[in-house]
This record gives sequence, C-alpha cells and structure tokens, in this order.
Amino acid sequence: MAQSLIETEKLTNFINGEWVEAADTTEVINPANGETIVQVPLSDERDVNRAVDAAKQAQKEWALVPAPQRAEVLFKAGQLLKERKERLARLLTMENGKVLEEARGEVQEGIDMAFYMAGEGRRLFGHTTPAELPNKFSMSQRAPVGVVGIITPWNFPIAIATWKSFPAIVAGNAVIWKPATETPILAYELAKILEEAGLPNGVLNVVFGKGSAVGDVMVHHGDIRVISFTGSNETGRNIASECGRQLKKVSLEMGGKNAITVMDDADLDLAVEGIIWSAYGTSGQRCTAASRVIVHEDVKQQLEERLLVEIEKLTIGDGLDEANKVGPIINKAGLEKIQNYIQIGREEGANLLAGGYVLDDEQYANGHYFAPTLFTDCTPDMRISQEEIFGPVISLVPVKSFEEAIQVNNGVSFGLSSSIFTTDANRVFKAQRDLDTGIVYVNAGTTGAEIHLPFGGTKGTGNGHRDSGVQALDVFTEWKAVYIDYSGKLQRAQIDTE
Ligand code: NAP
Repeated sequence: MAQSLIETEKLTNFINGEWVEAADTTEVINPANGETIVQVPLSDERDVNRAVDAAKQAQKEWALVPAPQRAEVLFKAGQLLKERKERLARLLTMENGKVLEEARGEVQEGIDMAFYMAGEGRRLFGHTTPAELPNKFSMSQRAPVGVVGIITPWNFPIAIATWKSFPAIVAGNAVIWKPATETPILAYELAKILEEAGLPNGVLNVVFGKGSAVGDVMVHHGDIRVISFTGSNETGRNIASECGRQLKKVSLEMGGKNAITVMDDADLDLAVEGIIWSAYGTSGQRCTAASRVIVHEDVKQQLEERLLVEIEKLTIGDGLDEANKVGPIINKAGLEKIQNYIQIGREEGANLLAGGYVLDDEQYANGHYFAPTLFTDCTPDMRISQEEIFGPVISLVPVKSFEEAIQVNNGVSFGLSSSIFTTDANRVFKAQRDLDTGIVYVNAGTTGAEIHLPFGGTKGTGNGHRDSGVQALDVFTEWKAVYIDYSGKLQRAQIDTE
C-alpha cells in the first residue's frame, strides 16, 4: 500500500530547490499497524545552515516580486492539493493514524488556506491616513520580515504547516520548515507541490530531523528572524525564552484543556453528538479536543447514559478502513501517557464509567489503540480536569449553575477552545463574552475551526499571536510607517502645527 502511494522509500530534504540527503535517517512508522512506511532524514546543523543561506538569497528577490504574482503560486498549489486530495488523505492516515474522513478534512484545510492566502496577494492591506501637516502624505504598510522558521507537530501534519507557510510566502518571506519527525510525508508532498507550482528555489526549504537538533539550531540561528511554533507547552516555553534573549519574534500555539458545557436547557442529543465527535475524534489528539465536559447537575445522569450508548457504538481500528471512527494513538509514549492519567484519575477518586484500558486484541496487534474513556464525578481541581492528556479521555465535572460552569471552564491554565450547549439566548451572549478562550463555539463541539478566522488561545495556550485568518500575517510581517512630505520645506511634526 505505502509503495503504491508514495514514490520513494527514502524522503530527502528540500534545500534551495534541490532534493538532498542528510547524514542519517530514521523510520516513519504507521501507528495503526507498526509497519515502516518510509525513511526520513535526521538532519544536523550543516543542513540548517545551508537552508538558511539559500533562503537569505532567495528572499531578497522574492520580496520584490509583486504580491499578486507571489499569490499565483499559491493558487496553483491549491489546485494541485485539490487534485491530489484523496492520495494525500490516505498518506496522512498512514503516517498519523487519523481516520480517512478526518484526513480528508485536514487536506481540505490546506486547500482552503491556499486559496484564502492567495487572495491576500491582492489585499495585504495597510492604511492611508490624513497627515497632521499640510502637503504631507502618510500610510502604513506590511513589509516581509525576511527568513522565517516554522516548527510543526505531528497531529496536523499539513493543515498547521499551511496556516504558517502560506501567509509567510505571500507576504514575501523565505521559509525554513521543520516538520515533526513522526509525520514527514505530507511535508514532503507539500514541498513537491510548491515546487511544481513554480515557487522559486530557496523560498521554501524543508529540513527534516529532530527538534533537539534541527529545531534547536533554527531557534538559535541569528538569521532566522521569526519562529512560528505549534506543539507542547514545555517545548514552546523553552523556545520562547531563547527567542526572548535574542529579541526574535516568536509565535506559539500550544496545548489546551478544552471544555464543553451542557446546560439544563440544552438539546441533549445535539450535545452528545458534539461531545463524541470533539472528544474521541482523532482519538482525542487535537489541541482543541474536548477533554472536559461541564454538565448541569439536573441533566448529568441523562447525559452520562446517552454518552455510554454512543461510546459503545464507536468502531476503533485502522483509519484506512472507513468503517472505523476512531484511529490509533500516535506512538507508545502517547499511549503510556494516557495510561498514566487513567491511574491518576482513579487515585484522585474520579468514577470511571467507560474505557480506561489499552486495546490489545489480535486485531490491534502492533498498533497503539486506547478505548474511549469517560470519567465522571470529577472535581475541577483534579489533575485529570486540569492537565492535557492528549487521548480519548473525558473528565466530566458536574456544576449547579451557569455561573459555576463559566468559572470551571476558565479555571485552567490553558485557553484554546470552549463550547456551550444551551437554548437560552441570554446565556449564549453571556457565554461568548465570558468564556476565556481564543475560540468559542455555541451549540457545536470544541473542534472545527475555519481557516479565515484567527486560530489560537489565551493564557498558557500561546503568547498572543494567531495562526490562520488574516491575523497570521501579523506574525510574518513588520508594520512600516511611511511619511512623504511634498511641501518643499522641512515641516516638523508636533512643532509646526500652529
Ligand atoms: P512537541 O513535542 O513540542 O513537538 C512539536 C514540534 O517541536 C516537533 O516538530 C518537534 O520535533 C519540535 N521540537 C521538539 N523539541 C524542540 C526543541 N528543543 N527545539 C525546537 N523544536 C523542538 O509537541 P507534539 O507532541 O509534537 O505536539 C502535541 C502538542 O501540540 C500538544 O500539546 C497539542 O496541544 C499541541 N498543539 C497545539 C495546537 C495549537 O494550535 N494550539 C495545534 C496542534 C497541536 P520532533 O518531534 O520531530 O522531535
């Protein structure tokens, strides 16, 4: 299967428009069955330096290409992504494990982002404003930053990369991209597509390898002026502190402890559907996954009963089989982390209603599968209600009122996504105002962001920047204020105004 979908047994770096090997390689494993799919380079400092040198040269010319022409490359890339959607989705399921339906959705996000950012080639708006002096013109405009570094995680191997690289490219930057070592295939395919779409050599460089090697060198490199990172809180904090030392711009998108609130007036059928999809889709390995359910005590029992019925129906297995709704966990370490939290939940006194174990029947041999899990009677301060588990585990917290629900939702260190199911219009408006997260859903689950809106979170989820949406351009551009005086004399602002 792998060989029929992928043209090579060994991926290579993409540096200055050439496909080049690195000194070492490692295996890419299919999490559904433990099979080796392909070899991926383990690059080192020399590879990063070559990529940065190429990017520096290429960026000077790329910045001078009119933005609508730069955008043409993204239009073509979008078209190629569209034509190859099914093949890319299958490769994505093989390297990451998410079920095919979700993999198709992720590739679609890349397509949408390509067309959306291509449109920005004819906008990239600045402002013209009145000047305070006569015969003077003033405006602000976006300028590219230069060479930018992108570091992406394994759970969205293509979508997140397009949220970052497409705005960077259309704005006139050159990019060094380090994909996650676990999921490099879609990165390789996306680079092929951009090459085919006519992106000049050196504008995009893909350097595969470990975060501790390639990523770390990128963060320390003096010629990379921006780091846009998505991944864990721990890695993000370390990157931010080094970037702070260098006064390097850094955009961080990190973890979440997202909650769905179900009020006593909610449409319970809808809420159950939203919870199942948001909590167990991608086996809970989404930064926006619902890992808490906050429920009004009057509907708690009903909700639990309905959830148990739906959990029972979930089919688990290799995502390439379209009968399966829940795929594997990315690797053994991920599985062990989830198991550890099950133990913590038990010790904390939470009530385990469903799941809580590794699936190890013959059909799951060599894969990493975890049963969809439901803890109830959790208190807000338990570790399973506070920490990111990154697996198919719900911690259900009962509350007595709307106000308490908001308080519990906000009482965590993260602030990515939140949702409320209610039919009360007053609660809808209060919730969208008071939920302290970067993304709020009403009568929908915590997942399903659209690419033309800003993506990111408050508090420990990030550092105030946003991926996707027009806001992503702020990460990859500098604002420049321009004053043009056509009075023929020296006019002094704030002094010659009377
Ligand atoms: P991770 O371990 O932090 O890795 C993320 C990326 O950083 C990988 O490419 C990794 O490389 C690299 N990296 C690791 N150490 C590094 C270092 N010292 N310097 C530079 N780069 C380094 O996170 P993950 O486990 O892959 O991803 C899961 C996390 O991402 C979860 O916490 C999830 O919530 C978060 N996430 C957040 C969002 C969001 O937008 N808020 C979206 C998706 C995921 P290697 O793995 O190749 O070594």
